[in-house]
Amino acid sequence: MQTGDGSKPGSRLDQWLGSYAARTRGMTASEIRALFAVASRPEVVSLAGGMPNLAALPMDVVGKALSTLVATNGPVALQYGSGQGDPELRRRILDVMAPNRVNAHPDDIVVTTGSQQALDLVTRIFVDPGDVILAEAPSYVGALGVFRSYQADVQHVAMDAEGLIPEALQDKLIALKRAGRRAKLLYTVPNHHNPGGVTLSAERRPRILEIAQRFGVLVLEDDPYGLLGFDGDPLPSIHSYDPDGVIYLGSFSKTFAPGFRVGWAVAPHAVREKLVLASESAILCPSSFSQMAVTSYLENHDWKHQVGVFRELYRERRDAMLQALHDMLPTSSWTNPQGGFYVWVKVPEGLDTKAMLPRAVTARVAYVPGTAFYADGQGRDHMRLSYCYPSPERIREGVRRLAAVIDEELDVQTTFGATPRPDRSGPLVESPGPDLT
Ligand code: PMP
Repeated sequence: MQTGDGSKPGSRLDQWLGSYAARTRGMTASEIRALFAVASRPEVVSLAGGMPNLAALPMDVVGKALSTLVATNGPVALQYGSGQGDPELRRRILDVMAPNRVNAHPDDIVVTTGSQQALDLVTRIFVDPGDVILAEAPSYVGALGVFRSYQADVQHVAMDAEGLIPEALQDKLIALKRAGRRAKLLYTVPNHHNPGGVTLSAERRPRILEIAQRFGVLVLEDDPYGLLGFDGDPLPSIHSYDPDGVIYLGSFSKTFAPGFRVGWAVAPHAVREKLVLASESAILCPSSFSQMAVTSYLENHDWKHQVGVFRELYRERRDAMLQALHDMLPTSSWTNPQGGFYVWVKVPEGLDTKAMLPRAVTARVAYVPGTAFYADGQGRDHMRLSYCYPSPERIREGVRRLAAVIDEELDVQTTFGATPRPDRSGPLVESPGPDLT
């Protein structure tokens, strides 16, 4: 017997195959997930994951704050809390957003379980199956996973070294309109893009917003890296140009620690009400303990200094990455990140980063193939390299190994012509664990 989706029920692999909801069809293990088990072996230099470098965090200070929190305020910290989030934390988030010029009232903020949950909530309240979401080409893999799970029709809009291209956005919206369709959301990571490593220029920000508003599209501005710029002050958020046209997402994952799972959304009043209802139905309330831990950290620790320490750590690694690429990958090109964790590399003509990955892992270096960051299978000519976690020496060694793999691929091409090698890039290893960063 066949089920609706053509699979056989009761297979040994999964006897419930015929029972899953249609929306699970897009839920497949990402390339990053498959990689993690291999990439976390000590002999592999992983330029793949985007884990913040917590070595720079004063664990003794954090430890003391946590034990004081439980000792002095345990019954509140370990209790359920408000669905919208702790009012004290919401007040403090205003200070954290000030450098990015997000002007808001604590009532405009919804605290979420990481900004990942905010992405889920926004999609849930706006997107029906088949609705169009516009997203940069390429886009954050975790957002694409959310959009897929709500059966959105994700359409990519081109970026260049200055971020999303306003003309490309306008052309896309005109084409949609001609086809009798409209986009519900424009998803954008304006600062230190994951995976693109570029920042939306100041000049383009109001233009992007103006175009989106002209076509009735709500902007979803995802900004976890906004404070991690290496030079100068952060640029004004898109939100700063018109809070009614934008939902702004922030996170403590990159500027403090992802383990607390605390992020937030700033949304226009009516949208915020819906977000709270959606969040309550998903999780009742965000973790009181995590929120109070973050509040206590912001209150008792010089968090701005700590962000500066993170910035310097990432700058040193960015420099090591760019120098290594310059010295060892003369046939590739790459973006020039001014902050954040990632550089986006274009490999020489004819190479396929997805097919090459198993050979790279055999050579003990891991990266994320570009295909992970598109909803439509593009990206084989790119890869994402992260410089946030390994030491500068390991970064250099990783790039050296990668260069050897690329040189070998190019040799094969010269010898046998440009016929691509067979794609054996199925999941390397299935494993649970950290994913999608
Ligand atoms: N958005 C972007 C662009 C990210 O890179 C990440 C994590 N890597 C997230 C959202 C989610 O972060 P979190 O849920 O930890 O706040």
